Amino acid sequence: MPKVTIDRESCISCASCWTECPSFFFENPDDSFSMIKEEFRNGKDINTGEVPEDLVDCVQQAADLCPVQIIHVDVKGPQNT
Ligand code: SF4
Repeated sequence: MPKVTIDRESCISCASCWTECPSFFFENPDDSFSMIKEEFRNGKDINTGEVPEDLVDCVQQAADLCPVQIIHVDVKGPQNT
């Protein structure tokens, strides 16, 4: 599955990502920065996760919309087709 990383320390809490793709991103109630929903995370790290195929388009769209470009999507995944 494609991997996602958020450089949270540079987030400006603009709300674009969790508005565009609320199934995957949400606002951390403590610092108001974006984070990845628990079911998609790698372990306990709120900055990194894996995207199921049905959410790839919206996660990519959210990454494209981020005004500070801190959402990184590795769309290559494990397949070489
Ligand atoms: S779109 Fe980017 S800057 Fe805006 S809340 Fe999401 S991660 Fe933060």
